[in-house]
Amino acid sequence: MRFRSTRDAQLAVGFGEALAQGLAPDGGLFVPTEWPRIQAAAFPVRESLAGIGARLLAPFAAGDPLAEPLPRITAEAFDFPAPVVALGASGRLAVLELFHGPTAAFKDFGARFLAACLARLRGPASRPLTILVATSGDTGGAVAAAFHGRPGIEVAVLFPKGLVSPTQERQLTCWGENVRSFAVRGTFDDCQRLVKQAFLDRRWQEERALSSANSINLGRLLPQAVYYAAASLAVFRCHGEPASFVIPSGNLGNAVACLWARRLGLPIAQVVLAHNANRTVPDFLDSGDWQPRASIATLASAMDVGNPSNMERLRALYPQLSEIRAAVSACTVDDEAIRARIRQGYQELGQVWCPHTATAAEAYARLPAARRDSGRWVLVSTAHPAKFREIVEPLIGRDIAMPESLAKLLARPSECTQIDADLESLRDALRDGGVSEGRSSG
Ligand SMILES: *Cc1c(COP(=O)(O)O)cnc(C)c1O
Repeated sequence: MRFRSTRDAQLAVGFGEALAQGLAPDGGLFVPTEWPRIQAAAFPVRESLAGIGARLLAPFAAGDPLAEPLPRITAEAFDFPAPVVALGASGRLAVLELFHGPTAAFKDFGARFLAACLARLRGPASRPLTILVATSGDTGGAVAAAFHGRPGIEVAVLFPKGLVSPTQERQLTCWGENVRSFAVRGTFDDCQRLVKQAFLDRRWQEERALSSANSINLGRLLPQAVYYAAASLAVFRCHGEPASFVIPSGNLGNAVACLWARRLGLPIAQVVLAHNANRTVPDFLDSGDWQPRASIATLASAMDVGNPSNMERLRALYPQLSEIRAAVSACTVDDEAIRARIRQGYQELGQVWCPHTATAAEAYARLPAARRDSGRWVLVSTAHPAKFREIVEPLIGRDIAMPESLAKLLARPSECTQIDADLESLRDALRDGGVSEGRSSG
């Protein structure tokens, strides 16, 4: 299959090429040019997540060098579960837990799939590949974990010095070997600017092969359709009804993956986008005016996006406003309501939710009762609450146990290099290994 830019149908490339390029040359995002229909009956009962992934993604990789290794890629990437757990007494509500990967957030699925693909696209004579990632928290950790220890690939994680939480910083700086982290004396925007500048700089292109592993990469988004396929099949087989999803949303990658799964024919009914106080998307659905704005900081920080990039993919799927309105609904939840929902989830259901998952739970609670009662609803849980323990523990009045994988990471020694927010500093630090600072252990 070919993948085209959202901005120009003539710019089309194969699967592997779309993954390697990340962004289309005209600045657009890659989307599939066809939507093969897949019937629920095509999936054997009790198939593993990896098996569902190989079957679902096969038509997209068809004709590409990645087609042959695809089953091994999905086996490697999807080696942890994404269970649908029933919730409450009604029997109509469930949670899709996407936090059982190495860094305890759903970004592990996409990052691991992309890493497994890029590793296989490299030939024995390929130049070493450098992955540059700017991160304000979750993304950098998932990408670092996914590429750690892969031969011929080096990762440079850039984060704003002093502007990520201590738990997040440890996840970004605990890797060593082929993963190096840089504490940039600046903001997250400075980090993103550095990555963009490096891509535009001829000397960088001559010195090393660069890739971004950015969240808009097709290789991170498409594999996310796999857990929606698996979850909707599980609900359909158990209850004979399609599943409806409430999705904590920021950049809309997770939501678009769900809509792609529905377009492919999986048994998915309604899709609700749960946004925090960054209300660009809910306002757009209300007014019809697209007005991106600066992001504002909230408790659900991984969704602090004022100008969601994947809106381009949503519009490519539904060119008319009326189609978008028919396809999804959206709601905005402020910090106070997120706090209240974390408390309520614990007191009424015994659930401990991260702020992002609580945003979805609140959006669900605000649906009209008739709508709630008529569907099989699944709340998408995007991160383990232990990642946000500073916020959640005081609200529920007890400690949260760390998942084992996360505890292991946090126990590793951490190491990072401080740099100024300019391209020369990054280049020097990358070239000579830089000056290590902040080494600590335990
Ligand atoms: C990235 C992230 C989101 C937002 O997902 P998008 O694909 O950007 O909409 C939600 N929750 C968590 C925990 C995240 O890390």
